[in-house]
Amino acid sequence: MTNEMPECYSETWRKARREHQCEECNTRIVPGDSYRAASGIWDGTAATHKQCVECARVWDWAQSLPDVYPEEGPCFGRLVLWLKEWDGTLPNVALKVIERKENEA
Ligand SMILES: [Zn+2]
Repeated sequence: MTNEMPECYSETWRKARREHQCEECNTRIVPGDSYRAASGIWDGTAATHKQCVECARVWDWAQSLPDVYPEEGPCFGRLVLWLKEWDGTLPNVALKVIERKENEA
């Protein structure tokens, strides 16, 4: 997974019509759930990354940190790893996401 800025990028919220899996915490996104789809082109390859509601909230929090430049923010699929390396205070929702990921491992 690259941390480079995508060539084009868009984020949308969708309502699941079939089951998906959150790329960050691996939770199941069941039909009817909202999830965020982040689409872009990385290294010439189009991809869509899906995040559950909690992970999207944590992701936005991470991106909003004043000390985190875009290149130092989390990569898709690596949010939990990034959170574990972050030495600042984590919001409760981030702790929940970490716990969820660890419990399923
Ligand atoms: Zn998630």
